Amino acid sequence: MQCLICHKAIRVTWPLSYLMLPSRKEIPPICEDCQSGFYKITTAVACPKCGRRQASLKVCSDCEKWQLHSTYHYANHALYQYNEAMKAYMHTYKFQGDYQLRHVFDTEFPHFIESFQGFDLVVALPIDPTTWTTRGFNQVLGLMGSLKNSAILQMNRAQEEKRQSQKKRQERLKTGNHFQVDVEYRQQIENKRVLLIDDVYTTGRTLRHAAETLYDQGCGCVESVTLCR
Ligand SMILES: [Zn+2]
Ligand SMILES: [Zn+2]
Repeated sequence: MQCLICHKAIRVTWPLSYLMLPSRKEIPPICEDCQSGFYKITTAVACPKCGRRQASLKVCSDCEKWQLHSTYHYANHALYQYNEAMKAYMHTYKFQGDYQLRHVFDTEFPHFIESFQGFDLVVALPIDPTTWTTRGFNQVLGLMGSLKNSAILQMNRAQEEKRQSQKKRQERLKTGNHFQVDVEYRQQIENKRVLLIDDVYTTGRTLRHAAETLYDQGCGCVESVTLCR
C-alpha cells in the first residue's frame, strides 16, 4: 500500500486480530509523515462563525465585518487548517486534477459532516460549467464519499471572470452571486435546514452567496461545513 500523496510505502503494524480480516478501510490512505502536515482544528478554540483556528471562542475580526452587513444566521464549521500542506494537497487535487486524492479525506470528511445533526438537506457547492469542462469533476462531491448530496443549487459563472484563486481578496468580495436554485426544487426547500459543503472557506464570500440564494428561496436555516479554513 502506497501513500496517496508522497507514494512511499505505508507500513502498518496490525494487531493480530486484523490479520484474519484485512479491510481496505483500516489501511490509512496516507503515511504518517504526510498526515502530520495537516493540522486539525479544535472546535473548542475556533471562531464560532467561520471555524477559523484561533486562541479563543470569540467571533473573529473577519466575521465581525460580515455581521455588520448581514441580517441572516450563518455559521461555518471546518475540519482542518488551510496551511502549506493543505494548499499543496488542494493544488494537486483540484488544479492538476488528481482525482485519486479524494480518498485522502473521503472517509473522515463525511464523518465530520454527519456529526452536524438536525439538517434536512446536505448540499455540495456546485462548480460552474467551465470548471466542469477543464477539471472533469466536482472536488466537493469527491470529498463527500458516499454521502447523499441534494443538487438543489446551480452555478452559472460568466466565462470571462477570473478564477477565485487568481483574484485578490477585494476583487473576490465584489464578485457577483452566480448561484440559483434549480426550478424543480423551489417548492421543496421552504423552511428547510440546509448544510452547505465546500472544500475551502477563504473569504466566506462564495458560501455566503450560496446561503443568501437559499434564504431568498425560503430556506429556514443555512450553515456550512468545509474541509479547511
Ligand atoms: Zn506520504
Ligand atoms: Zn470568523
